[in-house]
Amino acid sequence: MPIAEEALRAAKVLHPDEGFMPRPSKRRVITVANQKGGVGKTTSTVNLAAALALHGVKTLVIDLDPQGNASTAVDVDHRSGTPSVYELLIGEVTLVEAAQASSQSDNLLCVPATIDLAGAEIELVSMQSRESRLKEALTDEALAQLDVDYVFIDCPPSLGLLTVNALSAAHEVLIPIQCEYYALEGLGQLLSNIELVQKHLNRTLTVSTILLTMYDGRTKLADQVTQEVKNHFGEVVLKTIIPRSVKVSEAPGYGQTVLAFDPGSRGAMSYLDAAREVAERGVEGKQE
Ligand code: ATP
Ligand code: MG
Repeated sequence: MPIAEEALRAAKVLHPDEGFMPRPSKRRVITVANQKGGVGKTTSTVNLAAALALHGVKTLVIDLDPQGNASTAVDVDHRSGTPSVYELLIGEVTLVEAAQASSQSDNLLCVPATIDLAGAEIELVSMQSRESRLKEALTDEALAQLDVDYVFIDCPPSLGLLTVNALSAAHEVLIPIQCEYYALEGLGQLLSNIELVQKHLNRTLTVSTILLTMYDGRTKLADQVTQEVKNHFGEVVLKTIIPRSVKVSEAPGYGQTVLAFDPGSRGAMSYLDAAREVAERGVEGKQE
């Protein structure tokens, strides 16, 4: 039985026609941020993007973390010297020049991060409009030329200038929260930074989505955290909760999202469900 169930799930992931995913009424730019490390920012970015792409919704991932984990997961070239988000920020290349198609899907594009981004946080300090350089690079013309419906920006685990650039460039923030004891700690700091950006740089920015990640059903604590987050944030919390799953953590080692690596796994299914929720909220201005 379990094998049959898994096959069914795989079929659902691999035959997207049966599970329609709506295109948004207008293009959505979503920053995935949480200054806490290892909460699932990158995993959520690449798997939500892959789920949308697999369903025909063209999606761009911008890897804004010098670690380059998102670039690895979607399997795009990110050796030093590759046109990347670093060159984009300093104005040496355009968005169209820096975007690469993932080997996993033509609908999945990525602007990679190379190690060159590691110095950018400091280099940006002395640059003009240092908080808005990404925003300026994401022109309507370039996004239209790439023909993308979604842009996900994967942030590093800090609240420095790279994250500020991501918050300035987006319409929405998606905050992944790990179902763990210290989950809510530090969130106040993130939210007050978001408020600062709203006030000074990007009035229309909203925290549109909270995604609970790495849920371990065996612990009472996970349920407590889940409840606490729901009480605090209400309906911006997605109903889908991402379970802790070995397949999810193994996939990047193969240069794959979990949807490509093991489409029948619970991890793949849950990201597919989460992506559907995100997509449904994007229809007819529901995200605002
Ligand atoms: P950083 O702050 O370093 O950028 P992050 O917030 O982007 O980290 P991830 O890299 O997505 O977090 O995840 C941290 C680790 O947890 C990774 O090794 C990842 O493979 C693993 N992981 C993420 N989600 C899950 C999951 N649902 N089940 C099991 N492992 C997971
Ligand atoms: Mg990351």
